[in-house]
This record gives sequence, C-alpha cells and structure tokens, in this order.
Amino acid sequence: VGRHPEGGSASIRPSGVRSILAVASGKGGVGKSTVASNLAVALAREGRRVGLLDGDIHGPSLPRMMGVTERAQSPDGKILTPLEAHGVKMMSIGLMIEEDRAVVWRGPMLMGALQQMLSQVDWGELDVLLVDLPPGTGDVQLTLCQRAAPTGAVVVSTPQDVALLDARKAIDMFNTLKTPVLGLIENMSMFHCPQCGYEAAIFGHGGVAQEAERLGLPLLGALPIDLDTRLGGDEGRPVALGDGPVSEAYARLADRLVQ
Ligand code: ADP
Repeated sequence: VGRHPEGGSASIRPSGVRSILAVASGKGGVGKSTVASNLAVALAREGRRVGLLDGDIHGPSLPRMMGVTERAQSPDGKILTPLEAHGVKMMSIGLMIEEDRAVVWRGPMLMGALQQMLSQVDWGELDVLLVDLPPGTGDVQLTLCQRAAPTGAVVVSTPQDVALLDARKAIDMFNTLKTPVLGLIENMSMFHCPQCGYEAAIFGHGGVAQEAERLGLPLLGALPIDLDTRLGGDEGRPVALGDGPVSEAYARLADRLVQ
C-alpha cells in the first residue's frame, strides 16, 4: 500500500478530537451504519461528546438513520457547522446534496470529501469521533488511516461466510495500515421470534466469535436481527435511544470501546 499520488500526507485530524474510531466492514449491507449510529447514540447517552462522520460517500445513509433532514451550513463560507441529532454531532455528504442524487466521483474526489469533513468542519471538543467507513478496502479507508491516525477500528460482520471472508480482508488492510483493530462486532447474529420465542440463526451461528478467536481479536458484542432496529433506522430514531435489550447491548458495547 503506497501513498496515493493525489492524496497528500499532511494530517487531517481535527485538533479537538480525543479519539477517532473507524467503524468498518468488508461487505456492504451487514449493518455497519446501523451499528455506527446506535453506538454514537449509546455513547452520547453516557455523557460522552460524540461526533459521527459519514465516510460512506457514495451511499450516505446516516442522515436518514439519525433523522436529520436539514442541510449543513457554513457561516463563513469555509468551515461547516455539524448538525446535531440525539446528542450526536454529525456530518455527511448527504447533508450537502439532495437525498436521491448520486455521488459520481473518482477516488481523489472521495478523498477530498473525507478531508473536508474532517478538517473543515467545526467539530469542537469531542471525546470520540466515529467514522462510518464505506464497505471494502478503498481510497477513503486509506486516507483516513494514513492522514487522520485513528485510535482504532472495529469491524462489523454478519456470521455468514461471504461476510466473514470480506471482514478478514478489511482486518488485513488495517494491519497493513498499522491501525489497531479493537475487535469484531457480530450483527444480525440471531433472530428471537417475538411471537413464539423461537430462536433462529438466520445467517449462521457463532461465525464471528470463531473468526475473532482465530484472529486473536475480541468479540466486542453480538446484536440480534431485530424489527425495532430496522424500524428505528428507517425512522431516524436509533433503537439505542430506547430501553430494551438491544439498547442495553449497545450500552455495553459503548462501555467496552470508550473508557
Ligand atoms: P451497511 O452500512 O453495512 O451497508 P446498514 O446499516 O445500512 O448496512 O443496514 C442495512 C439494512 O439492514 C438497513 O435497512 C438496516 O435497518 C438493516 N439492519 C441492520 N442491522 C440490523 C439488525 N440488527 N436487525 C434488523 N435490521 C438490521
């Protein structure tokens, strides 16, 4: 992995941010943005000063998941003011363009957008800035790891083999970039039928735990397939705002990640 010719190497880490935590996945659709938004809310509920940066520039979904519909403003035409939702400061390309517009950009523009969202946003003082990365191992990941010195990365996966295969690649990328991988998070791990109590391992059982053990990494948490999680994401009210078992699981995850 080399420096990108157009990427530059100067630091783009915001000065008031104590730690940057990357939320990554190998494969798309495994619930990475869902986990990032709920984790941000859980941390804010514990009184942390939290920012949430949507690094998924081609497919920004955090504005909808966090229920933010306003556009981002820049009072001086240079620095953007983050929008605030559920106690979390956030920034996303989705707050600058219309929701149904496609972002058709090449690598250097993606890296420029990440750079702008890190260094030209008034994040202020934050305990933790969560960066929701796009799936895979591309330009945005490379720029974040080389120029913003994240404290660590967490990798979200479902227990399914195809997701785990890609998660392994994401972990390999972080190892190459010398970003510590703090652990794995299993999403969509079980389905507990609310009607009959039956438990179904829809995407397989224990796959992420096994993978974590194989790699010598902690399994940081396991989150079930859950209707309220899906509804909360669609309605812009993350399930971690409530007080059910999933919200408790996110609170435990928040405790493990930020001491
Ligand atoms: P990614 O960021 O990995 O592409 P998303 O967070 O956008 O994935 O999730 C994809 C879809 O799956 C969304 O509709 C989301 O609401 C849903 N989803 C994610 N995690 C869960 C879960 N644990 N239970 C139910 N639905 C989920």
